[in-house]
Amino acid sequence: MKDRHLPLILGGAAGAFALASLFGRRAAAAPEAPDLAAPLFELGRPVETDVHAIVSSGWARPRGDRLHRALDIPMPEGTPVLAVDAGTVIRAKTTATGDAGRWVGVSHASGLISRYIHLSRTLVSVGQVVARGEKVGLSGNTGRSSGPHLHLDLRVPAAMLVAVERAAGKPRSGWGPEMKPYGYSVPGEPWVPVDEYRAIVKREAAEQGIPLLTVAAHRNAGLVYRPVGARGEPYPEWLRSIKGSSGVYVIRERDRDGDPVTVYVGESHSSRLYETLTRHFQEWRRWKGFWRDQYGEGHDPGLTYPRDKVDVAIKVTTSSAAIDEEARLIRRLKPRDNLIGQPALEEVPF
Ligand SMILES: [Zn+2]
Repeated sequence: MKDRHLPLILGGAAGAFALASLFGRRAAAAPEAPDLAAPLFELGRPVETDVHAIVSSGWARPRGDRLHRALDIPMPEGTPVLAVDAGTVIRAKTTATGDAGRWVGVSHASGLISRYIHLSRTLVSVGQVVARGEKVGLSGNTGRSSGPHLHLDLRVPAAMLVAVERAAGKPRSGWGPEMKPYGYSVPGEPWVPVDEYRAIVKREAAEQGIPLLTVAAHRNAGLVYRPVGARGEPYPEWLRSIKGSSGVYVIRERDRDGDPVTVYVGESHSSRLYETLTRHFQEWRRWKGFWRDQYGEGHDPGLTYPRDKVDVAIKVTTSSAAIDEEARLIRRLKPRDNLIGQPALEEVPF
């Protein structure tokens, strides 16, 4: 099934949460400066939206002579645990032995590895490719755990620490020690959207200089707009990195004065975000009737835009969240070209 290009406005709030660019540390003088590091670290929730995810213990909490370099999120045993990003399962420990008990590790295209620890059950196997938001296990209380919770940590190879530091700052206690083959622990607080943090976590995060990311902040985070190069050039790496993802995109065109005009918001809920977005830059195919001939009526790419005159922002989402997120962005941004030929875009008053 192809993605829709003439979106309807849906009444419901978005169910799952998508990533947005986070807590950008951009200078006030240059609000649109490309932040190349940001999209690599946009993660999704580790639990469904009906689970109230409160972090009870965060990166800085001492545990004996060590710091606890992870997020602890209490939840009833058996709660589905979701991959915070698309990736490949690199570990699925199915026995409840050892400190970690049952756990799953997922390696992401960004270079991050997310680990889901103390599970009651694993639902994936090594080598399996998982989507963002896909269930990887059920939460539990296995291993060295004092109560039912998810222990979620993020690890990166040493070479990525500079990029992490640029995007989120370096915690005062330094990065977590390397743990082969999973790399250094990095704080999950700036990356993983949760509902709340306990006061002690807030205090310690402030002391460590670690930004906190709540779902509300996540949803309202600014979009990062970047150029997509000129006709004939390869697409930039950040854009190619969305291949295989679902999500939404926003296209802005620079007017004669160089001011940005939001022209189009689109989505893919079938892991074709890259293809759906880049169709808007394939003018030659349009003239040749390519889409109609190849795919039949109704699959025209819609409006096309000159690549060298636009900037694009993307948000990778779960496939189930893409349509709601698109509707939300259309309401918020009022793109010029989504409105053409559309029925009146009215908010449903509830
Ligand atoms: Zn923990």
